Amino acid sequence: MKFDVRIRGVTLLCVGGGRPEPGVDIAFMKRVKPGEEGAYEYYIPGSSFKGALRSAASRVAEAYGFKFCGEVDPRRLEERHERGEPCDVCRLFGYPSRLPGRGISRLFVSDFTPVKEPEPLIVTRVRIDDNSLRAAEGVLFNLEYIPPGIEFRGEIWLVDRDLVGLLLLALAELRLDRFGRGSIIDLRVEDDAELEEAVRGTRWMGLLKDLREWMWIEDI
Ligand SMILES: [Zn+2]
Repeated sequence: MKFDVRIRGVTLLCVGGGRPEPGVDIAFMKRVKPGEEGAYEYYIPGSSFKGALRSAASRVAEAYGFKFCGEVDPRRLEERHERGEPCDVCRLFGYPSRLPGRGISRLFVSDFTPVKEPEPLIVTRVRIDDNSLRAAEGVLFNLEYIPPGIEFRGEIWLVDRDLVGLLLLALAELRLDRFGRGSIIDLRVEDDAELEEAVRGTRWMGLLKDLREWMWIEDI
């Protein structure tokens, strides 16, 4: 089944990884704009969104009766699931495997592109030392942010209907989590007729209704 997801920053949004530019240490992800020579567009890679969704699913799976192996290191997942059926989180998100047909994800996430052209802003921050969690003395760096409220749109495909509850739980949990470089995002599900068909009459229908509305803010 396929449905659309819209994302928007509740705070300033930075998904780093873009090519460094003069005066910018951490640039927002960009790619060549299709059909426009020399033009770039901001985007959120599907892999970034899927990774964040996996962490969210890992936190909530067991509380709602889904199986989770507890392993977060991708290098150890194959060993963990050498025999038998993998846990629900690994079935949904997949895991690296050398064996044919093993570890294949049931979930596909497209890249997210902005609904309208964003006007980014550069913010100077104090670098935090990863070990002491204190400000590294005198070190400043510039991040490229997209202001709150700018919407990005992407698509999600789910292959196994029995994992739909875990997917909806992860989407809901992601709205309470950190995304990218410490940002908070809101998200909303739309064009979800196939999804509704899969959850109608189940305990997940209320959650789907909730996911159709922005959680954090009224329309800007
Ligand atoms: Zn697992």
